Order: sequence, then structure tokens, then C-alpha cells
Amino acid sequence: MPHQQTQAIRIQTKRTNEMEHSTPMFLTSSFCFDNAEEMRAAFADESDDNIYSRFSNPNVKEFTDKMVALEGAEAGYATASGMSAVSGSFMALLKQGDHLLSCNSIFGSTHTVIAKYLPKFGIEYSYVSANATAADWKAAIKPNTKLIYLETPTNPGLEILDLAMIGKIAKENNIIFIVDNCFATPVNQKPIDFGADLVVHSATKWLDGQGRVLGGVVVGKKELIKDIYLFCRSTGPALSPFNAWVLSKSLETLDVRMERHASNALYIAQQLEKHPSIQSLRYPFLTSHPHHSIAIKQMQNGGGIVCFELKGGLVAGRKFLNNLKMLSMTANLGDTRSIASHPASTTHAKLSESERAAVNISAGLIRISVGLEHKDDILSDILQALS
Ligand SMILES: *Cc1c(COP(=O)(O)O)cnc(C)c1O
Repeated sequence: MPHQQTQAIRIQTKRTNEMEHSTPMFLTSSFCFDNAEEMRAAFADESDDNIYSRFSNPNVKEFTDKMVALEGAEAGYATASGMSAVSGSFMALLKQGDHLLSCNSIFGSTHTVIAKYLPKFGIEYSYVSANATAADWKAAIKPNTKLIYLETPTNPGLEILDLAMIGKIAKENNIIFIVDNCFATPVNQKPIDFGADLVVHSATKWLDGQGRVLGGVVVGKKELIKDIYLFCRSTGPALSPFNAWVLSKSLETLDVRMERHASNALYIAQQLEKHPSIQSLRYPFLTSHPHHSIAIKQMQNGGGIVCFELKGGLVAGRKFLNNLKMLSMTANLGDTRSIASHPASTTHAKLSESERAAVNISAGLIRISVGLEHKDDILSDILQALS
């Protein structure tokens, strides 16, 4: 088997008669058949022929095949956004009376799906904290727990959950284990190696890496992916072939991009750690990170996100953002351009102070998505904004 970076580059849709080198865009809603028998066989699932782009499309397949290879999975299905990969997985795999167990540090929209919409369908949930021990996780399992869902590193708090520990508990209890691998990407962390049954991604972030298109993907065990595929092909969160073409091209550079994002981020973290305006700083590959020993067990590098807590809370956080000259103030992350955000006044502004504290988001928390600009230009913009 070729190395993963080779597969991310060389997995490719079959050449057409035009003998193109780069995969063309298959911007077509449906596909033709030569005769009635071929069409019948495709509809009867007796062939893999494309029928309709809500079900399958060559560009979408190319992107999915690459993600399957990168994560070491059996199968996959790509969706219109990260959230449709998450919610499609829940809806396909859970039923009335089931219980979902998760961690209170999860992406905001994922929390909304779990806490607001799943209960409408009679699906229960409960959360443990990011610091939960094996005993805490085991104690939270109920007879009807069908699925364990978590993300690591968490957004925006950068907490690290122990994949091997939780994967083992899920297996022992016959529970489906899903990991949102958005922050790490498969270059940095492979949840399937630690017992995950499924891995979900917001392809919008590092996988695209240039802030252009929305996308999502779920990869993992074949029989589970089949259920998700059947649910999604009927309900319709299909990935656009254009977006899939962009994302497949992006994967060709994922390995080199992530290496530089991580080395830039480590540099920024090291340079800022002792800064007098910073109360505390979190980066998974610094020994000061509370979960450093777990991070080095399951991650290849510390990733591209650095978080720090400003002295002076909410006021200092807003002032810092206003002082920035180069870093972008925007809701995305995982871009070539460095991005700063202040969760307490934006994405998590609706939570109370104590709700934010429970998920480790303090008033002065700043999240930096470290881009591919020269590391000293990123650092000097942050330093001038701090002073
Ligand atoms: C952004 C994000 C999502 C949602 O992805 P979309 O592509 O925006 O729908 C899910 N999980 C994490 C960790 C994210 O950062």
C-alpha cells in the first residue's frame, strides 16, 4: 500500500476519453445508461453505476475514497457540510429510546442537534466532562446507550480526550464510537486506530484549508456507513460535485500544509507562553498542557490551533481583536490565513458565565487558527496587538 500522502495525491477518477491529467468536474445531476437492462441493474443495486448526484457522483467519490484511505477506514459518505455528516450519522444510527453519551466540550451546533433536536425524536443524551476518567465514562453508560460521540482536540478549548481509553470502553459495552476528527485531521490523528467505529469531519476547515467551500464526510465501518448512506440519499444532504472537486484537490496538499500549520503553531505557542499579558496558554504539544501525556500518545503533532487566556477578561479580549492588523476576525478556522476569535463575545456569547466555565471558555479566551504566513509575521501581529 502506498503511503498516505501518495494516496491523497494519486487516488483519481478514471480518465475519460479526453485523456486529462487532472480530474475534471462532473457537474451533472444525473447519469445516462446505454440500455434498459443497465438502468434496471443500477436501480436494483446490482451495479455501481452512477444514477443521480444525490446518491453518488465521480467527484464526490474521489474525495470520499481519499478520506477513506487517509483515515484507514472501510467506507465513507461525503455530505454538504460537517453538520450534515454529524446529524446524518445520528439520525441514521439512533432510534427512539436510545441514549447518546457525549462530552460537554463539543462544537456548538453539535450540542444544539443533541440537546434540542434528538430529544424531539425520543433520543436521550447525557454529557461527561473532558476530564472524565474511565470510571466516569463507565458510570455514565446506561443500558440503552447506543452511541458515544466526542471530538478531540475540542473546539475551542483544546482539551484532549483519551481515544484509546474511551474506545476500549465503547467496545466492551458494544457501543458505536464516533469521533469528530476536524481539529486534528487524519494527518495528525487516526481515531480508527484507537477503536473509533466512525470518524466525522467538517471538510470546511483544514481539509479545504483555504476557506472556500463547505463540506463534510463520515468514514468507518462498512455496515454503519451503509445505513448513513441510505439515510442521506433519501434525505438529501449531498455534497456538491464542485465542492468535492475543490476538496479533493485540497487533500493533495494536506500533508505538507498540516506540517507547516503545526510547526508555526508550536512556534507561536512557545513564544507567547511567558508573555506578561497572557494568564495561561494552551497548546497540546507543550508540556504545560494539562492533557499533554494523552496528546503525545495519539497525535503526531500539536495541530494548528493555539488558545490563550488574556489577563483582563472580556474587555481585554475585545481590545485584542480590535488591535490586530493582519490576523483575520472571522468565524472560520483552518485557513492559510491566520484567524483570531474571541468565543466569549461571539460563538459562545449566549451561554452564561457559569455555562462557559463548565466547558473551559473563560471571558478572556482567544483562539488562534495559525495560518501559513511566515511565523514571524504572525507572531509580530499578535505581539503588537497584545501591547
Ligand atoms: C466547524 C465544525 C463542525 C461543523 O462543520 P460545518 O462544515 O461548519 O458544518 C463540526 N465540528 C467541529 C469540531 C467544527 O469545528
